[in-house]
Amino acid sequence: MKHRTLGEATISRVLELNTPDFEPYGFFPETKPEDWTPHLHWLKPKCMDPASGNLYFPMQSYVVRTAHHTILIDGCVGNDKTRPHRPRWHMKTDTRYLDGLAAAGLRPEDIDYVMCTHMHVDHVGWNTRLLDGRWVPTFPNAKYVFSRKEHDYWLAEHKKAPLDHFADSVLPIVEAKRALMVESDHALDDEVWLEPTPGHTPDHFAVRLASAGANAVFSGDLMHSPIQCRHPEWRARPDYDPPQARATRRAFMERYCETDVLVCTAHFPLPSAGHFVRHGEVFDFRYDAAEW
Ligand SMILES: [Zn+2]
Repeated sequence: MKHRTLGEATISRVLELNTPDFEPYGFFPETKPEDWTPHLHWLKPKCMDPASGNLYFPMQSYVVRTAHHTILIDGCVGNDKTRPHRPRWHMKTDTRYLDGLAAAGLRPEDIDYVMCTHMHVDHVGWNTRLLDGRWVPTFPNAKYVFSRKEHDYWLAEHKKAPLDHFADSVLPIVEAKRALMVESDHALDDEVWLEPTPGHTPDHFAVRLASAGANAVFSGDLMHSPIQCRHPEWRARPDYDPPQARATRRAFMERYCETDVLVCTAHFPLPSAGHFVRHGEVFDFRYDAAEW
């Protein structure tokens, strides 16, 4: 497992899946083949599988270690979960994720905080694991940092029509009294704080890290693919409030473009982290030169 140093902190990636499962016109429903044609030469093979034409979205957590805390950002897909709509996610039993954590030198007990940027199925799964037929916190010593507004929205949705991932990966954390319900601008300390980035979900947040003059931001799903650097206006199918998501995406890129802040995305192709640079009126993504 490779680490990246950021000031006096380290960042590791725990990869669960990296498969080209996302059909581009399905995921960006307003696009047509001709919208993609000018980009195919740079999208293939890193972002788009040349064989299937599908997009790669890695499923991964970031682990941040500061002098004070060990923080896991986003909980991926998880094991033993009923996810019939996605065969690769359904009733998964492999050990890759926890092996990746171990390779980073960590046991589940070592995590102090879990932060879920939002409550979609691929960001909460490892919050819990199945033990003797019950969902229990995977990280037994962690406080799970949830946006209260995000939680309340999904709870109301769950009451209208049951949501498997909310029932198996969020509610058990609340019932175990491990949830820390916060506003989406919450500061953990002067090194780690949240930044409201709503639109993809009602109260999606990004996570900021500052350490000894170095900076990073973990962007969650306010964007999914580097194609949205060139096309910030492209709506991802799961976006909750598309106009707000578009505004948040563009403002986020404007804010961090050509700054020293390392942008750690959830689903851009590996190594998933880098910097926005200008490309005329829009942006490009320059991947981190560090090997990790
Ligand atoms: Zn996601």
